[in-house]
Amino acid sequence: LELNLVPVFQKDRTFGGVLLVLQDVSAIRRLERMRSEFVANVSHELKTPIAAVKGFAETLLAGAMDDPEISRSFLQIIYDESERLNRLIGDILELSKIESRRVPLQFSPVELSAFLHNTVQVMTAEAERKSIMLSLKAESGIFLEADEDRLRQILINLLQNGINYTPEGGRVAVEATVRHANAPDAAETVIIRISDTGIGIPKKDLPRIFERFYRVDKARSRSSGGTGLGLSIVKHLVELHKGTISVDSHPGTGSVFTIELPVIQP
Ligand code: ADP
Repeated sequence: LELNLVPVFQKDRTFGGVLLVLQDVSAIRRLERMRSEFVANVSHELKTPIAAVKGFAETLLAGAMDDPEISRSFLQIIYDESERLNRLIGDILELSKIESRRVPLQFSPVELSAFLHNTVQVMTAEAERKSIMLSLKAESGIFLEADEDRLRQILINLLQNGINYTPEGGRVAVEATVRHANAPDAAETVIIRISDTGIGIPKKDLPRIFERFYRVDKARSRSSGGTGLGLSIVKHLVELHKGTISVDSHPGTGSVFTIELPVIQP
């Protein structure tokens, strides 16, 4: 609580007294703390690839350059780390734009099954590379009011994670079904489930995975090219579509991400 004293003057401009103002500033303080934590996290995340680029460049300059094989492998690392830096900065900018509502969403009616079909198609080559079976089951004739590009971004992010965190030969499935409202005036919704037979997420990590930069296993996320920002971006985008997202997962069995979105009449 913050205490402020405000002098009060009367109509004839004589001193009337003092107003005591007690203000609950915990929300403001919490926001400030989150913001400074974010800046600290961002700096830390940026420092890691920069240190790698610098270190390997230094070693090359100090003489490693004379060995063509070492040069090639060090340059590859420098290239990969620069790419990572690029992705990281892209995701940070994206997240900050979405959070400050600077992305005007372009809403229009989207037929879900056609949309899902196209989106899953985009990911098949990547799934095949890991011998992962990618499947889709969606009722047709479901319409959403959505920004198609953003909706695609949500799905691709979740499918990408499903593929990343599932070993070779596993399965990633997308299912969409209408949930009929049980009250007459309640709106109908659609449930989109993205499930995988992957490594799963420990119970203690589940409540935190939508947080910025939160990863269960940093090394694994890094090696699969992750930035730890994907799920925060996804959650924001789902909420901008007036929807919710939740996760259920069991280590060694797999994960299920569930999105619920309002349905519109075509
Ligand atoms: P990243 O870029 O690290 O994948 P995300 O924000 O997309 O970041 O996900 C956060 C963390 O949640 C990941 O680092 C990973 O530990 C975990 N995670 C996300 N999706 C899955 C999944 N389908 N299976 C297992 N773990 C997952």
